[in-house]
Amino acid sequence: MSVLIKNGRVITATDDYIGDIFIEGETISATGRKLTMPADTTLDATGLLVMPGGIDPHVHLDMPFMGTFSSDTHETGTRAALFGGTTTVIDFVLQQQGHSLREALDQWNSRAKGTAVGDYSFHMAVTDYNDHTRAEIKEMVEKEGITSFKTFMAYKGALMIDDRQMTALMQEVRKQGGLVTVHATNGDMIDYLVAKNRSEGRLSPLYHYLSQPEVTEAEASARFTDIANYTGCPGYIVHLTCEGALNAVRQATRRNQHVFVETCIQYLLLDASLYEKDFDGAKWVMSPPLREKKDQATLWAGINQNLVNVVATDHCPFKWEQKKMGLNDFSKIPNGHPAIEHRMELLYSEGVHKGKISLNKYVEVACTNPAKIFGMFPRKGTIAPGSDADILLFDPQKQHTLSAATHHMNVDYSAYEGWELTGKVQTVLLRGKIAIDKNNCLVDKGYGQFIRRTPTYTTSL
Ligand SMILES: [Zn+2]
Repeated sequence: MSVLIKNGRVITATDDYIGDIFIEGETISATGRKLTMPADTTLDATGLLVMPGGIDPHVHLDMPFMGTFSSDTHETGTRAALFGGTTTVIDFVLQQQGHSLREALDQWNSRAKGTAVGDYSFHMAVTDYNDHTRAEIKEMVEKEGITSFKTFMAYKGALMIDDRQMTALMQEVRKQGGLVTVHATNGDMIDYLVAKNRSEGRLSPLYHYLSQPEVTEAEASARFTDIANYTGCPGYIVHLTCEGALNAVRQATRRNQHVFVETCIQYLLLDASLYEKDFDGAKWVMSPPLREKKDQATLWAGINQNLVNVVATDHCPFKWEQKKMGLNDFSKIPNGHPAIEHRMELLYSEGVHKGKISLNKYVEVACTNPAKIFGMFPRKGTIAPGSDADILLFDPQKQHTLSAATHHMNVDYSAYEGWELTGKVQTVLLRGKIAIDKNNCLVDKGYGQFIRRTPTYTTSL
């Protein structure tokens, strides 16, 4: 099976040219001008942008939570991702305290294997670091191709590890060539503020926001950065939202340190005023919460200053019925919002179309950097001979409106209902196969493959 894509404007993190792409089987075999080889299928990309498939390195599919599960499975979540031009996602396996990493991986494999439509990989969340876990780190890196280890500085008693465990984990992960990623917020401060607000009868979604002030994130981001510096372990802060936290990372560059930073599309586009809408604000209850306009400005600037390296989603959808578990108490609202499908289109429309970032930067933060940081480059994240033929044909002029009535995520509301965007995904190829064409999905459940990743040992991009 071969495909020839003709006359598109090919954009990578560094290239921008009108040209053709020839695909044989699952990989790209040639790029250039006026390619003439015969192909089974020819796609005319005149007037379209041709870009690498998106990589969303922060999603939670089928994640157990408070007796329920996040509402997108690996099937519905990766399919929705494909509709929006994201061809690979990285999901989180969560170790249960008192249990092994292996047990958690077995559980996640049993839900994901044979069901994913798009390609996927796993981060391993270490919630209980001890001698047994230490021995498993090497095994995860070498045998399973899982090279990134997620930690939580919040959610004490469920997910949080303390600084003693963090230091020991980072020393081990460094040795094995992996990367430690972090949910960097000060769990004790937040627990105190949540308890205080609840005990004083302040129970609406607004108090979710007010229980996690900027300082809780700034403090933990600085502490994590310090521990990363001390241990020499590559570090990556997930879903960074605010000026104070980014300044901690900026400050670390003054001692020649580089910590990778991810933000999520919602922190660039939405702000905390949404929490003033009574219970409707539950749609955006996530941790960290949405911040202020000045933080949005910081994050856009951070992208252009190479301080923010990745734009992900932290996709973790719950249906309205599930969100209502917290109708009378913000602390019981399941955290998370749906975004896996619209990250690429939102970032294009609000970022590139409105002149905040360049096209090359767009590909860099949405495709290339996630592949490089997490050990999938150059197989994923670029358009080059030998790379997987994960390719997005994107119409930069097309206007459309986001709505729960038309999206493909398994959730009954849209966090962006009625948003009018410029630029839409037209065709998506995943490993050489046309997966999406004009709003139809042409690949089945089970087509998505687990992507083994390689150690990176570095904080350079
Ligand atoms: Zn998350």
